[in-house]
Amino acid sequence: MALPTSDTRVTYPDGALTSTGTVLHIEPRADGRAAVVLDETAFHPVDTAWPDQPADHGVLVSGSDEFEIRDAVTGVIHEGVLYLGRDLPVRGGTEGWIFVVAHIVDGPGPAVGDTVEIRVDGEYRRALSAGHTACHLASLALDAALADAWTKPVATDALGNPAFDALAIATSRIDANGSVDVYRIGKSLRKKGFTPATLDDLAAVELRANTLLEQWRSAGGAIRIERDAPELSARRTWVCELQGGRTDIPCGGTHLTDIHQLDQITVSLATNDIDGARELTMTTSTR
Ligand SMILES: [Zn+2]
Repeated sequence: MALPTSDTRVTYPDGALTSTGTVLHIEPRADGRAAVVLDETAFHPVDTAWPDQPADHGVLVSGSDEFEIRDAVTGVIHEGVLYLGRDLPVRGGTEGWIFVVAHIVDGPGPAVGDTVEIRVDGEYRRALSAGHTACHLASLALDAALADAWTKPVATDALGNPAFDALAIATSRIDANGSVDVYRIGKSLRKKGFTPATLDDLAAVELRANTLLEQWRSAGGAIRIERDAPELSARRTWVCELQGGRTDIPCGGTHLTDIHQLDQITVSLATNDIDGARELTMTTSTR
C-alpha cells in the first residue's frame, strides 16, 4: 500500500474542531486496531518527541460508519516504513522525512480513498487549550518570580527574565484545565548561577507568581498561533499580547484566543530532594 508523500495538513492550530479529509493509508496493528492517516485533520495528536498536550477526543465518520478515535499520535515515514508513537527515530522537521497524524480506531477501520469527517469533542479541547494557555503563562510567571535567584547573566525568556523554565524543565504535562511541570535543580543549574536557597521560602515565590498571573489574567490579552505552513512539521509559535510585553514561544499545541477567557489561574509549588538534586513541581490549575 502506497504511503503518503507529504505531511498531514493540520487545522487544529487555528482552533478547528471539524475537518474533512481523504484516507491515504491504513496501518493494521497487532492489537486489532488500525492507524488511519488522512491528508488533512483537525484532530490534535500527542507529540511523541515532547508529549505535553494529550490527544483530542472525538470520532472519525465515514459514510454511515462512525469510529471512535481511541488515540492519536504523531508518526514519521522514512524509506517506505511508517513509524508510530515511541518508535519515532527522529524529531519533527527533519529534512526528507514525512510527518503524519495517525488516528487510532478499532480495526479494520475505513478504506483507503474514503472521504471522512473528523469531529473533535469541543468541551474537552477547550479544557486542554485552557490548560495549555495556563501552562505557558505559569512558566513565564515562575521565571519572573525567580528572577532574583540568579547571580550570573543567563538566557532570558520572552519577557526578558532569566529563563528558569527553559533551563530547568524536566517534564511538562497538560491536563484538562491544568498542568504539572517538573523542574530539576542540580549542579549544572547552580553553576549557571541559580541560588537554590531561593526555594526555601516557597510560599513567597508562589505568591509572587500568583500575583503576576492574576494581573495578566484580569488585564487580558489576545493569543494566536503563528505559522508559515499548514503541514504538521511546520514551525508554530504561540504569540500572546501580554501586559508587559509580547511573547513568542515555540508550541505545537492548542490554545484559547484570549487570556480573558480564563476565570482563574493559580499555581502551587512543592519541592523534594532526590539524589543530591532538588526537584520543583509546579501544579497549575485554571477554569
Ligand atoms: Zn506549548
